[in-house]
Amino acid sequence: MSTYTVAQVMSAGGPLEIAEREVPEPGPGHVRIAVEACGICHSDSLFVDGAVPGIRFPVVAGHEIAGRIEQLGTRAEEYGWQVGDRVTVGWFGGSCLHCTPCRQGDFIVCVNLKVPGWTYDGGFAQQVIAPVDALARIPDALAASDAGPLACAGVTVFNGLRRSSARPGDRVAVLGIGGLGHLGVQFAAAMGMETVAIARGPGKADLAKQLGAHHYVDSTAATDVAEALRALGGVKVLVATAGSSEAVSATVDGLTHRGELVVIGVAPEPLDISPAQLITGGRVVRGHPSGTAQDVQETMEFSALNGVRPMTEIVPLEQADEAYRKMLSGAARFRMVLSTG
Ligand SMILES: [Zn+2]
Ligand SMILES: [Zn+2]
Repeated sequence: MSTYTVAQVMSAGGPLEIAEREVPEPGPGHVRIAVEACGICHSDSLFVDGAVPGIRFPVVAGHEIAGRIEQLGTRAEEYGWQVGDRVTVGWFGGSCLHCTPCRQGDFIVCVNLKVPGWTYDGGFAQQVIAPVDALARIPDALAASDAGPLACAGVTVFNGLRRSSARPGDRVAVLGIGGLGHLGVQFAAAMGMETVAIARGPGKADLAKQLGAHHYVDSTAATDVAEALRALGGVKVLVATAGSSEAVSATVDGLTHRGELVVIGVAPEPLDISPAQLITGGRVVRGHPSGTAQDVQETMEFSALNGVRPMTEIVPLEQADEAYRKMLSGAARFRMVLSTG
């Protein structure tokens, strides 16, 4: 019997414990992936904490999976995949194909969306079984440790920007320069947008410039962030990655007419926005989910072409619990990535 290593959680909020399991066989339309790297996302805490419906322990979280296909289930070949292919699986872990959004071709809002770590065991492990519709092909130029974070954090900001009303030459802002925002700034600049980075403190100004931002707004120094944005001429689109509803709400008056606030960062408190702030300028507030496997593939191809890379701290799978706690504490500067290598 061959076994593989996982970092599993036995009960809600418990530690990520290293365990050995028997290597499973991929079923029809599934593949087994030898995981090389898996990013740790804040959303993993939903599963570790058992905070989503239908979650069953032990939980193996991890939905920024990058590795190589090592075994095909029956029919997987029909979809064009082969043993040895380099692939990611992100938040989009497959869709049901029969709900109304799926029948409309809008797979990312599938009501039965499969998410690794929730619907099936995720990537904090040496191996993962995933359905073929969850797979995105990794370009040769990308390392596995870069590809993993692009499959959730990356595609979320990439799609958030390209599906917005902003076009090259437009001024856009990215609120927060953390795990999502540091990628958002790079994407916005690479898309040819005049890019404003907004973060807390003067210390992030240099980083913002390195990432390609044309302007930096220190939200702790500006008495009014919206006013600072208006002083630049206002922004057509603001992508809010910050986990603070107060910080997000404070930006709305910095949007131009017909401006768009794209909400990506999850925060528990309600947004504080008055109807008048939206009505007069015809502004829009919109939530934005992640992206499908095809979106992930396009995110990776764009990143490979344009030099966009996540900033990562790579630690061995065996240290999953320390790495996860570091992400939760906010002490990790960007993306924590577990490596099996
Ligand atoms: Zn995620
Ligand atoms: Zn569906």
